[in-house]
Amino acid sequence: MRLPRFEYVRPQALEEALSVLAQSGSRAKILAGGTDLLVNMKQRTVCPEVLVSIKTLSELLMVSSDAQGFTAIGSGANLTDLAANAGIAEKFPAFIQAVRAIASKHIRNMACIGGNVCLDTRCWYYNQSKLWRDARERCHRTGGSVCHAIKGAARCHAINSSDTAPVLVALDAKISVMKKGENRLIPARQFYCDDGIRNTILEPSAIVTAIHLPDGNGAGRSAFIKLSMRRGIDFALCSIAARANINGAGVTDVRLVLGSIASMPIVLEKAAQVIMEAGLTQSAIEKAGEVARTELGIITNLFTSAGYKRQLAGVLVKQALNELKGKTAKRGGAKA
Ligand SMILES: Cc1cc2nc3c(=O)[nH]c(=O)nc-3n(C[C@H](O)[C@H](O)[C@H](O)COP(=O)(O)OP(=O)(O)OC[C@H]3O[C@@H](n4cnc5c(N)ncnc54)[C@H](O)[C@@H]3O)c2cc1C
Ligand code: SF4
Repeated sequence: MRLPRFEYVRPQALEEALSVLAQSGSRAKILAGGTDLLVNMKQRTVCPEVLVSIKTLSELLMVSSDAQGFTAIGSGANLTDLAANAGIAEKFPAFIQAVRAIASKHIRNMACIGGNVCLDTRCWYYNQSKLWRDARERCHRTGGSVCHAIKGAARCHAINSSDTAPVLVALDAKISVMKKGENRLIPARQFYCDDGIRNTILEPSAIVTAIHLPDGNGAGRSAFIKLSMRRGIDFALCSIAARANINGAGVTDVRLVLGSIASMPIVLEKAAQVIMEAGLTQSAIEKAGEVARTELGIITNLFTSAGYKRQLAGVLVKQALNELKGKTAKRGGAKA
């Protein structure tokens, strides 16, 4: 498949990139590693007139720690480099596990963390060639008014399959977003929207410049588990990011976040509450797994059946909590 025609712009500085995006509006798309965007362009699901390449902007390549206790990772950071960063792996093991789980080595060699954070949602009825799509009635996402994935659905339920998105939400990360004349720091949980067509709050003229991970929330008490058909290259059928703080008061700040199952990461509030009330006991872990299944909301049959996904969610919750329990026991501070 060939790419459609487009104008290629390679700004020399972030300010220049922001100006080009401000002038071009929705005619432009940001190009990072291109491992998702270029495939989508070939399939004609997106046809931007202008591609603004940000991959080599030095302002987006920084990795640094600040006085507020955050580690900032520039959105242009390459995934293979990140996966090999021992300092970040030690502080944020679940985050680096998620980075290492993305696609394949070849794809990670090209891709950037910003592209993964801003990954477009996916649907079996949408991520196909134009010829294939044209053979079906148009759905919400292609300008029609039906959904093939959920009959009768009033909106698009395409899935956010970014491996790092649930981890960012679980770790209370913040996302730095810039557009011409404006710079905002947005909690990851508020960055994602429950909408298959517009799954982030990003405007077309805005760039994610960095992600900020809070230093206190990572080490040793977080977990990431991804389940996919094949280990090497596939998107997740479902993933989970978990973390908990273990202190004298017991288990606090439990976060359980499912990825690759809905249009945004799903935060499991009730399942987390079970653990905060009872600790990481075996019976509480079993109960949390059961409760999680009731918190999933509308689930599609995309890529695998909805019933299987509900089962999977409960199993992953229990696996992640057992992993946290194991790590806690090793640190000698378990309330179990
Ligand atoms: C075969 C295959 C398997 C894959 N498997 C996985 C997988 O297992 N897990 C997974 O998470 N992904 C997977 N992907 C998707 C993709 O490769 C990765 O998510 C990758 O990290 C995307 O990064 P990129 O730099 O290539 O993004 P690009 O393709 O360049 O961009 C992706 C999107 O983000 C936008 N964007 C990029 N950077 C920014 C920024 N700084 N600010 C605002 N918007 C931005 C782009 O405009 C575009 O809409 C797979 C892709 C393929 C082809
Ligand atoms: S979820 Fe429904 S509306 Fe969205 S792309 Fe798929 S078929 Fe179309």
